[in-house]
Amino acid sequence: FDDRDGWIWFDGQFVPWRDAKLHVLTHGLHYASGVFEGERAYAGNIFKLREHTERLFESARILGFRIPYTVEEIDAACIEVMQRNGLTEGYIRPIAYRGSEMLAVAAQNTSTHVAIAAWPWPNLFGEDRMKGITLGMAPWRRPAPDTAPTASKATGLYMIGTMSKHAAEAEGFNDALMLDWKGDVAEATGANAFFVFDGEVHTPTPIGFLDGITRRTVMNLARQNQMKVVERTIAADEIGRATEVFLAGTAAEVTPVRRIAGHHYTPGQITETLVAEYSRLVRMSPEEVLRRAA
Ligand code: PMP
Repeated sequence: FDDRDGWIWFDGQFVPWRDAKLHVLTHGLHYASGVFEGERAYAGNIFKLREHTERLFESARILGFRIPYTVEEIDAACIEVMQRNGLTEGYIRPIAYRGSEMLAVAAQNTSTHVAIAAWPWPNLFGEDRMKGITLGMAPWRRPAPDTAPTASKATGLYMIGTMSKHAAEAEGFNDALMLDWKGDVAEATGANAFFVFDGEVHTPTPIGFLDGITRRTVMNLARQNQMKVVERTIAADEIGRATEVFLAGTAAEVTPVRRIAGHHYTPGQITETLVAEYSRLVRMSPEEVLRRAA
């Protein structure tokens, strides 16, 4: 991924894609003192840009380091990265991490580095995702909120995601469904999960995993479409009783699920409505969204 044309915003400057390098003794690499974002642009607009930038700052605050820019500066840099790379649609990846001034667990005197890249990325699950993807059960659980900083989009939390996804892929599944430390349903490795029970849209209470921006958007869309939305603890043994299942996340967008381990589902009316409503919403201009809310 490092050998391509393009420009990456790196500590306030645009550098050629291949030159956006860091030192091997970077604290963020050794001790996972890093936080990141994943954003998508549609028709020239970065969807919910301000919410993503604010979450980046909040993620860093939780890990105890400061991003040496303003929210407005990072917003502007994300937009510029898209323009510099000639993109109107694509995925934007800001990352902030502690630098290489100190290399030990203690790292109070490190500087914070920030980089932002963008590239075309149609969908996490590819073109034929609309017939539904498959999930295996993850061998790893999401940690308790007093075991890891689970409200932060911290790089270190993705170690269990990568291992779980690889395990699921090795068994022929597209992704993994992770349980939390109690054994209740949490989320997929890069997206939140929704289940339809008795015609209602249920989703796990986000304790121990990210309360995704797409998740909240989809919950609002469901309510606006007269669906009942229930946020609650979902036990692992309820999965088989769901009639529809789907994932929601920036990279995944709204993606139907047709199988979780031995349980099979047929994407239905509720999933189809939310897929369509989400793809309509992300393409609205910010002015149009405001007009509709008024
Ligand atoms: N959970 C995880 C583990 C994720 O990586 C993501 C993607 N950021 C999400 C949920 C969904 O979050 P969002 O809708 O804000 O992209």
